[in-house]
Amino acid sequence: MSDVESLPKVELHLHLEGAAPPEFIRTLAAEKNIELNGVFDAQGAYAWTNFAAFLETYHKACEVLDDPEAFRRLTEAVLAKSAADGVIYTEIFIAPDICGGGDPVAWGEYLAAILQGAETARATHGIETRFIPTCIRNLGPEAAVRAAQLTVDRMGPMVTGFGMGGEERHLTAADFASAFEFAREAGLGITSHAGELCGPHSVVETLDHLRPSRIGHGVRAIEDPELVRRLADEGVVLEVNPGSNIALSVFPRWADHSIQALRAAGVPVTVSTDDPPYFHTDMRYEYRMLADTFGWTTADFTALNMTAVDAAFCDVDTKTRLKARLTGDTP
Ligand SMILES: [Zn+2]
Repeated sequence: MSDVESLPKVELHLHLEGAAPPEFIRTLAAEKNIELNGVFDAQGAYAWTNFAAFLETYHKACEVLDDPEAFRRLTEAVLAKSAADGVIYTEIFIAPDICGGGDPVAWGEYLAAILQGAETARATHGIETRFIPTCIRNLGPEAAVRAAQLTVDRMGPMVTGFGMGGEERHLTAADFASAFEFAREAGLGITSHAGELCGPHSVVETLDHLRPSRIGHGVRAIEDPELVRRLADEGVVLEVNPGSNIALSVFPRWADHSIQALRAAGVPVTVSTDDPPYFHTDMRYEYRMLADTFGWTTADFTALNMTAVDAAFCDVDTKTRLKARLTGDTP
């Protein structure tokens, strides 16, 4: 069997701050003389025990990311790691509420720095990137509309989607319909987190009110056979993050993960890492575990990556180039 870890990969679900390598955060903290108590364990990895502690550590680590230059360097560091793991195309979530606190001018400066980091990574590592600004669910509908407006203001060749992250148990999808309507009307690709910590009803509400072409996670759809059929029939693509789900105990073990059953039911699934250093994973590890657990072969992973390219928020020429690279038709 060929080594699945070395295959070219397409990733659709990665949070920029959540992908920050711990050593990058440590370096920045030392440069800025910021004390990061409780962020790292004895081995130097991110320290957390449950979802609340994970969020707390995440936000503490983000304290060192306090200017556009930090985000430029972060983007380069994250993309260098992705490229080293064989990722040829990635879509990354960023949040206008984190990058500049929702201020339009500051957001423009942060975004310019992030795009510069991605251009450098493309030139250095050949990795292609698109960004999906997100609203943060627990900040509420008004902040979501503002995030959508800031995204539309700055949409362009590398800013191609709009999404929603944050605490899934807060409010309902319908509360955010106007933000998503605005983003969709402007021509942005639409995705939203759902069906991770909350059950199938969260996915149904998201489909009904936000009308996304993709769902972030969506793995708990498996609890509702009718919803599984709907996802398959409508071709809604799931951005599945198995290692993240195991780390947060959405499923107890890899063998219990719903990705295999969803795939067998005809739901288009893709594989990503979410916040990889927090969940002790990366794209190589995900592929290895899926191969070991479910017997997925090179052909399975190539099909998975083709699905991801079809669902990607990028132009047709880029998709054609990516497919050629996945099938080995070009270097
Ligand atoms: Zn996520």
